[in-house]
Amino acid sequence: MTNAGTPRPTVVVSRRGADRLRAGHVWVYRSDIVEAKDVPPGALVLVQELSDKSVRPTRAQPTRARVLGSALYSTASEIAVRMISPKPVSDLEQLVRERIRAAVAYRERFVENINAYRVIFSEADFLPGLIVDRYNDLLSMQIVTQAMDSGGLRSVVVSEVREALNPAAIVERVDPRVRKLEQLPEKESGLISGDKTSTGFQMNGVRFIYEAFGGQKTGAFLDQRENYGAAARYARGEALDVFCYQGGFALHLAYKCSKVTGVDSSRPALEMAERNAGLNGREIEWIEANAFDLLRDYADAGRQYDCVVLDPPAFAKSKQNLQTALRGYKELNLRALKMLRPGGILVTCSCSYHVSAADLLDTVTAAGVDSHRNLRLLENRGAAKDHPSVLGIPETAYLKCLIVLVS
Ligand code: SAH
Repeated sequence: MTNAGTPRPTVVVSRRGADRLRAGHVWVYRSDIVEAKDVPPGALVLVQELSDKSVRPTRAQPTRARVLGSALYSTASEIAVRMISPKPVSDLEQLVRERIRAAVAYRERFVENINAYRVIFSEADFLPGLIVDRYNDLLSMQIVTQAMDSGGLRSVVVSEVREALNPAAIVERVDPRVRKLEQLPEKESGLISGDKTSTGFQMNGVRFIYEAFGGQKTGAFLDQRENYGAAARYARGEALDVFCYQGGFALHLAYKCSKVTGVDSSRPALEMAERNAGLNGREIEWIEANAFDLLRDYADAGRQYDCVVLDPPAFAKSKQNLQTALRGYKELNLRALKMLRPGGILVTCSCSYHVSAADLLDTVTAAGVDSHRNLRLLENRGAAKDHPSVLGIPETAYLKCLIVLVS
């Protein structure tokens, strides 16, 4: 459907909002919206900057303000505007089709030797609100904005990804909390095409099981794929994978290390980890425990390792609890450093956007000082390339992974 000819709803943003866009970002927060009268949920809108001279603009009397481009609007989210093009857009569905094809082409160019990766990553692929992961012959889709949830765009997405990747099935993964925040109608996770709900996939030659509706109903942490490979390049001896989930790091390390232990507080995650280990013919010790308690007990008991991986969940959910989060990271890293033998490898990650790369480096440095260890940075890494990091949108660079030689 083309909307050419129909007047496009207009959203007027403040100077601060406009400056943010001019700096390369694609979001305007609700606090920077000056005018968005009668804009329906999920609408394609024209974004204008409030000009100094103009009075409050109306549709009947448009301002002389500069047009900043086209965006998708949310009536619920604090992120009211997500830019989709610096130009006026007349055919949104066509634009979405082109963006999906570009996202697929990007993966064909930069993703090698795996059959599980993120095909579409929201703003990082200029498709705000849409996430599609591929697990071999299954696609898992997640929609998190009003615009992408609209019937028209949904069917465009489904038909385009089917044509591009020919999956056996497409499942929709629903995060009820996100749908509620975005004021979208309640929905259950389910199949939207085909009838297959589980499959096997591989990353770096290591095999994994994917169950769309199993245990935790999430897939793998595909963003860590290249970091698994990097960790395995340096690891040897005895390894401890803390916050191991379904065994991503542990399984990779099990091909290089003499003994591997994985720790997580989630039993369903560990059950899947054990099945994954079986699939690879590897023996790994899995421990269900609170990582903080276990690290304290093990460090106090004098246990030693040659490699420790720390990949905790996002501790800093907002800027407000950054300091508390940093204390958490510091404690974990301190305990890990205490347990590393000289020449050992620390792989330490943070997936909190609010914890910057510099924050994590500072925290690990301080832990090194406190534990009287010398740390040499072997690699300062981010997410795998199927999770592109867009310059100007710092939120797309949320994952940090440091690989450190400890002496
Ligand atoms: N390293 C994993 C991803 C880790 S995600 C991978 O590459 O696949 C974070 C994990 O931390 C989740 O599996 C969650 O169950 C676990 N977790 C959260 N809080 C925990 C705690 N206090 N102790 C142990 N595990 C915890």
